[in-house]
Amino acid sequence: MRLLGKKIVEKPWGKNVLPPQFDVPAGKRVGEVWFEPPPELPDILVKYIFTSEKLSVQVHPSDEQAKALGESDRGKEECWLVIDAEPGATLGIGFKEAVDSGTIRRAALDGTIEDLMQWFPVKPGDFFYIPAGTVHAIGAGVSLVEIQQNSDITYRLYDYGRPRELHLERGLQVAKGVAHRSNLRQSIETSESVQLTDGPFFSVAVVAGQAVDDGPLHLDRSTLVIPVGLDVTIDDCRVGQGQGALAGKGEELRIAKAAGACLLVQHVAPPVSSVVSAPPR
Ligand SMILES: [Zn+2]
Repeated sequence: MRLLGKKIVEKPWGKNVLPPQFDVPAGKRVGEVWFEPPPELPDILVKYIFTSEKLSVQVHPSDEQAKALGESDRGKEECWLVIDAEPGATLGIGFKEAVDSGTIRRAALDGTIEDLMQWFPVKPGDFFYIPAGTVHAIGAGVSLVEIQQNSDITYRLYDYGRPRELHLERGLQVAKGVAHRSNLRQSIETSESVQLTDGPFFSVAVVAGQAVDDGPLHLDRSTLVIPVGLDVTIDDCRVGQGQGALAGKGEELRIAKAAGACLLVQHVAPPVSSVVSAPPR
């Protein structure tokens, strides 16, 4: 097993105080902690996200759309597991009612897009899958783990007047004016082990510490191991809270019998034909 490198990313919407296991330097406003994707699983990026303000309203293209738009990176699907939420914290995902592209455009320009979107109150254990084309915004006061296709392409539709670049034209080409499908979200109990999503870009399972037996789990392929709120060992090497590791095929994972959970992220056979190659410019 190998511990994954971590990248601490400052963001204007981040938090000054993170849980102690992240040992962030004082005075920094940290929005994201990234685990560097290992060569065995280069297409999957896992991050913690911590917010004290709303993130921009944004959308990502699919692999096919990214290619058609001449992007040099792949598209992005992502999913979120909420690990902490302040009272009243919400996530904006999809629209309350079907809207057309002209309506999205006008609402992005005058800021009323917030009112058209559906905002879900959240608590720890809430899980959302965000397909490409879904208009979304992470609200304030949320800590979550995001698992995503390792891609840089974000089209910002609206940013609450903050001075960052918007990408309205491209965003409108991929934004779907629809509601988030209810089968793409679930709330898990902290004592429950479940498969959160299974492809096509990544497979994510959460194993609850309270639900594990004494024996180890035998991993059958390269797996990203992200303990949340407890410690684990892989072949007797400890992986602590705030860390992430790559476990190899055949290695033994032991999860502490404790409150908290361990996320297991694996690859699912990728649709190779859709992997984006850089077009000539
Ligand atoms: Zn996003």
